[in-house]
Amino acid sequence: MKRILISFQLVKCINRNQLAYVRVRSRAGFETERRGSHPYIDFRIFHSNSEIEVSVSARNVRRLLSFQRYLRSSRFFRGITVPNSSNILDDDYNGQAKCMLEKVGNWNFDIFLFDRLTNGNSLVSLTFHLFNLHGLIEHFQLDTMKLRRFLVMVQEDYHSQNPYHNAVHAADVTQAMHCYLKEPKLSKSLTPWDVLLSLIAAATHDLDHPGVNQPFLIKTNHYLATLYKNTSVLENHHWRSAVGLLRESGLFAHMSLENRQLMESQIGDLILATDISQQNEYLSMFRSHLDRGDLCLENANHRHFILQMALKCADICNPCRTWELSKQWSEKVTEEFFHQGDIEKKYHLGVSPLCDRQTETIANIQIGFMTYLVEPLFGEWARFSNTRLSQTMLGHLGLNKASWKGVQREQSGSGDDVDPAFEEMDSDILPQEPRLS
Ligand SMILES: [Zn+2]
Repeated sequence: MKRILISFQLVKCINRNQLAYVRVRSRAGFETERRGSHPYIDFRIFHSNSEIEVSVSARNVRRLLSFQRYLRSSRFFRGITVPNSSNILDDDYNGQAKCMLEKVGNWNFDIFLFDRLTNGNSLVSLTFHLFNLHGLIEHFQLDTMKLRRFLVMVQEDYHSQNPYHNAVHAADVTQAMHCYLKEPKLSKSLTPWDVLLSLIAAATHDLDHPGVNQPFLIKTNHYLATLYKNTSVLENHHWRSAVGLLRESGLFAHMSLENRQLMESQIGDLILATDISQQNEYLSMFRSHLDRGDLCLENANHRHFILQMALKCADICNPCRTWELSKQWSEKVTEEFFHQGDIEKKYHLGVSPLCDRQTETIANIQIGFMTYLVEPLFGEWARFSNTRLSQTMLGHLGLNKASWKGVQREQSGSGDDVDPAFEEMDSDILPQEPRLS
């Protein structure tokens, strides 16, 4: 096999222009193979510490960039159309989906049902609808074709094979964000610009997520970990991927360069806030503001801080949904953890905390997640916005935790286990769910 210094060249290329890499793809030699099991990572790269030892084919490099993008290009150049990717729009989605959109601001909105009704296009349909509902298309004079194209690209760059970090999770977070934007304190002070950034950040906050967490990328020497110096690796990648799509779509090409740059940087601030390993910092800042009572939403900086907190809430709000919805999310995220654990076992990488299907249970993971991450965050959010929605969320959180404790008691006979992995919150060991995002 031809040995090439692909990874080294790629990093050099990225350093020249960090945004360019998400667009890089070869147009030669498309393979007919279908996508295999996730994550789409070449393990030969992980076992190599030197670029000289790296032996990868161009196909594998494409896989590292964005398998979704490669697959789409591949289909395009082979003349294969993808029936599901563009039949969603306008009048095509059925009456039931339209009916659901009339209640898009309800906390019990069933995103799984909506995704089925839209034939797997929940993210495009929901976000387009919200842009319309908030008057963003008119206010920013957006070209609706470009908007649809942008949203389709976003949806397609999520990995549908990820049990959890896929476009349905992004749609769910976007719907939750919409619910928070409607809260009285926010709605009366937010500008169209704030709403625009919030919805884009929510829809793109996990873009091109590989289905494994940051520690996995670090220990396998993934180029993204090198690129982002082992810090908020995934979040940086999601942000840069979002910026790549924004530029490619030309959705805001009619705006000034200054505004586009401001938008890109503010979307970054929102997405980077979803790194759960930073939660303590955000939470103590939030707490201090609330203690002092000095949050002033006429101040743009304060508004953006609140939007960061809102996106953090939206990202980990699964335990605050009804049991029926919450339970499904719990199962999906655990499946993704355990899949990572299976790969780690297979390649002798050391199984990450919460990822071992032999020793972990959904109930233990969920109780730890709720106790150490969700309850503290939503407790403060309810202090900031003490509304019916906040009380509803806390109510579901309490009930869901009690339900998992019941399951735990049945399984272990004790019921007091909290996963010790959550007690090491400041370390970098948490899997991605709690960095659920
Ligand atoms: Zn997320």
